[in-house]
Amino acid sequence: MEKIIKQFLSEVNKKNQNEPEFMQAVTEVAETVIPYIVTKDIYYGQNILLRMVEPERVVSFRVAWIDDNEEIQVNRGFRIEMNSAIGPYKGGLRFHPSVNMSILKFLAFEQVFKNALTTLPMGGGKGGSDFDPKGKSDTEVMRFCQSFMTELFRHIGPNKDIPAGDIGVGGREIGYLFGQYKRLKNEFSGVLTGKGVSWGGSLIRPEATGYGVVYFIDEMLKNNGDGLKNKSVVISGSGNVAQYATEKCVDMGAKVLTLSDSSGYIYDGDGINKEKLEYIMELKNDKRERISEYVKKYSKAEFHSDKKPWSVKCDIAIPCATENELNVTDAKELLKNGCKTIGEGANMPCTSDAIKLIIKNKIQYAPGKASNAGGVAVSGLEMAQNSLKYTWSREVVDGKLKEIMSDIHSSCLKYGADKDYINYVKGANIAGFVKVADAMLAQGVV
Ligand code: NDP
Repeated sequence: MEKIIKQFLSEVNKKNQNEPEFMQAVTEVAETVIPYIVTKDIYYGQNILLRMVEPERVVSFRVAWIDDNEEIQVNRGFRIEMNSAIGPYKGGLRFHPSVNMSILKFLAFEQVFKNALTTLPMGGGKGGSDFDPKGKSDTEVMRFCQSFMTELFRHIGPNKDIPAGDIGVGGREIGYLFGQYKRLKNEFSGVLTGKGVSWGGSLIRPEATGYGVVYFIDEMLKNNGDGLKNKSVVISGSGNVAQYATEKCVDMGAKVLTLSDSSGYIYDGDGINKEKLEYIMELKNDKRERISEYVKKYSKAEFHSDKKPWSVKCDIAIPCATENELNVTDAKELLKNGCKTIGEGANMPCTSDAIKLIIKNKIQYAPGKASNAGGVAVSGLEMAQNSLKYTWSREVVDGKLKEIMSDIHSSCLKYGADKDYINYVKGANIAGFVKVADAMLAQGVV
């Protein structure tokens, strides 16, 4: 088996040199899915995984725009249309200086499996730019978004490819992108998700990824006869996913001890309650300040500059910042301190070595493609509401989100439950693969 996997990976690697994040995501899938494929006659010999790792289409384009000093800036824009076997391409846009082909291809590949797990008819894609919205004025962000959409609009559409937000792309950016699309196409359509509620957005979409990861962790705990009440939780990041994961943890009776950003982490031994979270939301979303400001208002809390929160003792860890933010040293710290459950809010936040160690120690571990699927699931519900030209209430959307997270958990159990351990990585990868592979087989070699 090892030889078959190695051979497959070496073939993929040859075509994707210098794309370490993409290869990391493909390796994780290959290691769990190939042993399954070889036992199933319908998949074996069809080169399905080899087809899946090849994007259906990749678009790369120049984004020129003028800054507030009237200087011309040039960024690079991308859209990876990875797989449309079960529905139109769907996946976020990321604006961050680290964005490159490798990162977007890993995200697009993960998205294919994640979207399949939601049970909604969505293919996988991802896009973005190396543009950094941090430190830019609103008008600079608007000019950039308009220039970006002036090319992207040719490649997307409500039945073709429906982007959403991701790191650096929140409600403000989605608004500017949508405005430019509408102007260029002269049509009001559900071409983006994460829209404002008064112009086609869904209630609960901003909350969905954070709430969803906590619902998923709750399912894992319940499966072990446990629950979130009184658990101590360490969260990284302080953006969209981290904020709403914190809110849901607090709602469900857990104590959140940390949040972070790229400058370091804050530790609040009393727990970050609703009032403190409101302050963080104001700090990060409205004022666009650093997380370190928190300790100026709450003096009992500590700020640890340039550090990650994984050395803090906790029952549950929820990484919600970015890829590869939790390495094997961090995993050792968490295990040493008694952490029993890890649920990924971010995409691929744990390194491969960290995951191997966590699984070896039989710690409950949910990969992002399962546990953070709530965001894209509610994006799917936003698309459904746009088609119906109707809006569901908060309760209805939240109820559907909970149900979807519970269904994803069941799919993971179906394919990932071994004798004395539930391997959620294996479960999520095989469940996602089966859905997409069956559709690809039915549609022929295209
Ligand atoms: P935001 O831009 O709202 O927040 C990102 C947070 O992560 C910020 O606190 C940011 O700090 C921190 N961060 C980013 N890069 C780094 C880094 N290199 N080192 C340390 N901290 C960093 O993004 P989201 O909350 O939307 O996304 C977070 C993660 O969740 C990403 O992996 C994303 O792909 C994933 N995700 C998001 C979904 C969504 O619906 N939004 C859906 C599914 C997954 P700073 O402010 O200093 O940059």
